[in-house]
Amino acid sequence: MASGSSSRRRRDSSEMTAVSSNEQLRKIVHVDMDAFYASVEQRDNPDLRGQPVVVAWKGPRSVVCAASYEARKFGVRSAMPAVTAERLCPQAVFLPPDFTRYKAVSHAVREIFRRHTDFIEPLSLDEAYLDVTENKTGLPTATRVASSIRAQIWSELNLTASAGVAPNKFLAKIASDWKKPNGLFVIQPHEVVNFLRDLPIGRVPGVGRVTEKHLHSAGIKTIGDVQALELAQLEERFGRYGQRLYELARGIDHSPVVPNRVSKSISAEDTFPTDLPLPELQPAIHRLAEKVWNASRGNARQARTIVLKLKTREFTTLTRSLTPTEMPKSADQLAELAVSLFDRVDLGSSQLFRLAGVGLSNFQIEAELPLLSSNPATESVIEEFTAMVD
Ligand SMILES: [Mg+2]
Repeated sequence: MASGSSSRRRRDSSEMTAVSSNEQLRKIVHVDMDAFYASVEQRDNPDLRGQPVVVAWKGPRSVVCAASYEARKFGVRSAMPAVTAERLCPQAVFLPPDFTRYKAVSHAVREIFRRHTDFIEPLSLDEAYLDVTENKTGLPTATRVASSIRAQIWSELNLTASAGVAPNKFLAKIASDWKKPNGLFVIQPHEVVNFLRDLPIGRVPGVGRVTEKHLHSAGIKTIGDVQALELAQLEERFGRYGQRLYELARGIDHSPVVPNRVSKSISAEDTFPTDLPLPELQPAIHRLAEKVWNASRGNARQARTIVLKLKTREFTTLTRSLTPTEMPKSADQLAELAVSLFDRVDLGSSQLFRLAGVGLSNFQIEAELPLLSSNPATESVIEEFTAMVD
């Protein structure tokens, strides 16, 4: 790339961002508990401290729900097959998840958030966005608010959290990951464009593995590569997503913190004894849709989005979702909508799948939704949909 012209372009775009973000400067904090489930286990059982701990059910096809940092040194990661974790770190302590306990701790964390702001958007049991543009304690800066929250979580709950502070949600989430674990990272509005420049394109929300590949083949490897492109070029190549890509590359994200949205989703999933091609997943989808339907107990219509989740034989997870104008009125209709999402799975007819899941998400009202707690494997899944990433 010719450095002269591109650095000039970059300078221009940075000035542009400074102007546009001044229109509405928000202060967003993203708080993410560190190795949450594993940390709760270590907190509650001193024998586990300093040891590699893996939270997962036993079973040939179960996955890791959380791994302590000691276990991560061996390469163990969330969502990895438990058998792989066992191979990488045989000396690890394997514990079955105890979601009742994790949920209680999650509520306590949320109470701490509430002292600072009412604008809290939980993403899962262990992370949330907070809009602290105006906060309840009178602390002068968002950074002070984030420090105070982290200190309170530590002193009252004996757990560590990482926090990111930024002018919007997209950046706050990247920031919370920057100094993990037990870290705080702040992206000031004037630093945004420089900060983003060298990040791999895969860090942009909405860029999954498929889009990433697509972008790589177009020569776009970093966010800086997107910054160097005009809006029209991006729209031409990526359609409607081009506009979003253009904005995100410049750190522009106007999506608000939505406190009333319950990001909890109801879902169920099954790992098959043998891998199956897509058309043969239909009976499983019907079975799963019925489970989810029953779990929602008539609340299904308060959800807005139907989610299909698949995991390929090669462990690539894909989700497809649909927000229909009218929600299904029966388990069968839910199943049909989920099956209709097969059309958007473009992997060829020889692709085999090891897992399928059906979910309802994007609930519009605060509702305490029942969990499918009779089957621990199913409950794991309910959490997994929203709480996989730690
Ligand atoms: Mg976490």
